[in-house]
Amino acid sequence: MVVEPRIRNGICMTAHPTGCALAIQKEIDYVKSQPKINGAKKVLVVGGSTGYGLSSRISLAFGSGAGTLNVSFEKEGSEKKPATPGYYNNRAFDEKAKAAGLIAESINADAFSHETRKETIARIKELFGKIDMLVYSLASPVRPDPDTGELYKSCLKPLGETYTAKSVNPEKGTVTEVSIEPADESEIAPTVKVMGGEDWMLWVKALKEADVLEEGFKTLAYSYIGPELTMAVYRKGTIGKAKEHLEATAKEITKFVSDINGNAWVSVNKALVTRSSSVIPVVPLYISLLFKIMKEKGIHEGCIEQMYRMFAQKIYNGNSVVIDDEGRIRLDDWEMRDDVQAEVEKRWDSITSETLADNTDIETYKSDFLKLHGFGFDEIDYNKDVDLL
Ligand code: NAD
Repeated sequence: MVVEPRIRNGICMTAHPTGCALAIQKEIDYVKSQPKINGAKKVLVVGGSTGYGLSSRISLAFGSGAGTLNVSFEKEGSEKKPATPGYYNNRAFDEKAKAAGLIAESINADAFSHETRKETIARIKELFGKIDMLVYSLASPVRPDPDTGELYKSCLKPLGETYTAKSVNPEKGTVTEVSIEPADESEIAPTVKVMGGEDWMLWVKALKEADVLEEGFKTLAYSYIGPELTMAVYRKGTIGKAKEHLEATAKEITKFVSDINGNAWVSVNKALVTRSSSVIPVVPLYISLLFKIMKEKGIHEGCIEQMYRMFAQKIYNGNSVVIDDEGRIRLDDWEMRDDVQAEVEKRWDSITSETLADNTDIETYKSDFLKLHGFGFDEIDYNKDVDLL
């Protein structure tokens, strides 16, 4: 069947299997073109089917020769309906990594459930015995409590005051003002429950109790801080509370695994186009401007460049892990450079629907978004039938 992008409200409902496989190959090629990483060899990635988790997996597999087991939640396709991109990504990655002689498997299940943890631990024992790294890269709007089944929903809202800022509709190319009402108290705790560190800690506890963690075990989760512009809705909003919790959890996990010389870090990453970030108001417009400025300065990176740099230069650099005063790895170091942020502030006000194309890199935003779903590659003939299963 011929499959085309179908985008509604910032969400693309379709995915192209051959395009997804090509996107994976391009990330693999990037990593193979870089110096080898002397890093983890037996890795569990939770949330490794798309975005930062996927690029972490590719960096460690093809950079460090790691075997990887991935847990993610993706929908299969049917003859008429494409699967989610992560489904095609997992299949392509597992095939390509196995062909390169690496252990590579994916479990398609809800990572928040105890049952999935049990299944994963059983598979770790069979594949690796023990693991030396856990990458925890989930982004989800909801989380069922694993004990009670109660469903918690996260929200992206400011605290205290209404937030008003410009936002873009990338498909229409229009810039409009959006206002987001502040969260009430009752919306903060569920957001922390979904996107904070509770589930990360549950994974580490279950893995340690099952005795599948190597001496010197390392674990990572990802966070974001961002510019003044998005501060009220992101870092100082409901999601920021969850990220504070995630960062505090890193310290708790480090204590919890200290007897095996383990360590947990949060890495603060750059704002990039992923399936999760594209639905956050204001962020796509900020990303479009940021990309333009970072490209002008020759410091633009995508997910794979970020994750490769993290492992090669911040973690497995031959010395100690590079962290800030609060113990966090900073991959947003170039995004947050004073000269970059000064340009963001200087140019933000001049962006309108009319100036969008000239003043931002909206084209890269749109093309990155399509590529996440396997579309927009010159190498692929999208008029050709493709098997969606
Ligand atoms: P993404 O949407 O590309 O990936 C999310 C992953 O979580 C996917 O593999 C998906 O299958 C998995 N997932 C979601 N619910 C699941 C469930 N119930 N069970 C199993 N797997 C599930 O997101 P991303 O942008 O790569 O985000 C990953 C992390 O990076 C998040 O913590 C996010 O806050 C952080 N981060 C993102 C950005 C950005 O700009 N995208 C910047 C900094 C930090």
